Amino acid sequence: MNPPDLRPDLSRARITETRRDGQPTIGMVSLGCPKALVDSERILTRLRAEGYGISPDYTGADAVIVNTCGFLDSAKAESLDAIGEALAENGRVIVTGCLGAEPEYITGTHPKVLAVTGPHQYEQVLDAVHSAVPPAPDPFVDLLPASGVSLTPRHFSYLKISEGCNHKCRFCIIPDMRGKLASRPQKAVVREAEKLVEAGVKELLVISQDTSAYGTDWPRGERAQFPILDLAKELGQLGAWVRMHYVYPYPHVRELIPLMAEGLVLPYLDIPFQHAHPDTLKRMARPVAGSRTLDEIAAWRAVCPDLTLRSTFIVGYPGETAAEFQTLLDWLDEAQLDRVGCFKYENVAGARSNALPGHVPEEVKQDRWERFMEKAQAISEAKLAAKVGQRIEVIVDEVEDDAATCRTKADAPEIDGCLFIDEGHEDLKPGDIVTVEVDEAGEYDLWGRRV
Ligand code: SF4
Repeated sequence: MNPPDLRPDLSRARITETRRDGQPTIGMVSLGCPKALVDSERILTRLRAEGYGISPDYTGADAVIVNTCGFLDSAKAESLDAIGEALAENGRVIVTGCLGAEPEYITGTHPKVLAVTGPHQYEQVLDAVHSAVPPAPDPFVDLLPASGVSLTPRHFSYLKISEGCNHKCRFCIIPDMRGKLASRPQKAVVREAEKLVEAGVKELLVISQDTSAYGTDWPRGERAQFPILDLAKELGQLGAWVRMHYVYPYPHVRELIPLMAEGLVLPYLDIPFQHAHPDTLKRMARPVAGSRTLDEIAAWRAVCPDLTLRSTFIVGYPGETAAEFQTLLDWLDEAQLDRVGCFKYENVAGARSNALPGHVPEEVKQDRWERFMEKAQAISEAKLAAKVGQRIEVIVDEVEDDAATCRTKADAPEIDGCLFIDEGHEDLKPGDIVTVEVDEAGEYDLWGRRV
């Protein structure tokens, strides 16, 4: 799991409908990770199908749904602030999402909320909306748009393949909040992906809590050995870029790499390693040892030399010694990851790591974070500099007067870098895929010209 500040949760709302007279209208504030964003999209799609209008602001809404995040204490505080703001601006607020798993935490601060429902309780959210703002369907105008309601720009879309997680990482309360792994049927995932591609989506971002575990909750006799491979192959046939997020480093991830080398899915792995020292990983209750991951990474790169690796790490985990941290730095030197996010360990209410001995002082955490990021940045800079002169495909995200903002296959939206085209970009539009020659590189971004 990425910490909230590394999540692509800044997606822009694209709600352009005008409200018809008397149409009940709902607003939505969506916080947290891409998975929460997918939940928000589902809720809005259902409401839209029932005849509700969707308001992009507080004032036009009869009630506001706040989809909360409860991953870290800072995310909880942000969720409480958002609920307070919605109450102040609109007054009629329904709360859902991860923080909804702790209703008394919300009602203790905001007793005036109309209802609190937990994560994925779509029916309960809809019930709460129905009782707060009764529906008034109009069969002539309330047709469900082919692609549902999307909070992400039309040319890329998140595709949620499962919910929950069977791991027990000590710093994480996701399994308590979201439950055990529950994979969506492959047919349903592929059907949703097909509809998205038919509706113009050019890039599918596969998300879950644990993507590589997809399907391992199905009965053994009724599934392939590694269902994620079958799913990746099917998604790879749809003609869109397919990007894998939150891939837990199981050994069978190596089976995915040939699909990347063949071009079926993007040569990009978002794989949270969290640490490299075996003792730290053990205290985190992560089953994978750091040295073996270096061998795995080398093997992946041998099969797919273009592979981009993104990962997240925790520094200052309870008991992390100076030697353990140094191992992490040395590991990063060897692993040469392309994209790295890092966060300083923070207690989360309910996490088992809170009770571990040897909590690291804040100033030590800060020092380690700075040293880690300095190294990660130098690696990123060198890797990007090596791209100058290369011809690569990019997808266009946004076109403005002075430049088109694009991404390479090595960049996920919102969390990675950009490639800018600042000449001859006027005819481009979001979702176009064009070839550029890279002519300049910075710490995280590239510049290029069309060829
Ligand atoms: S793999 Fe670990 S960190 Fe990720 S959701 Fe599961 S328990 Fe949490």
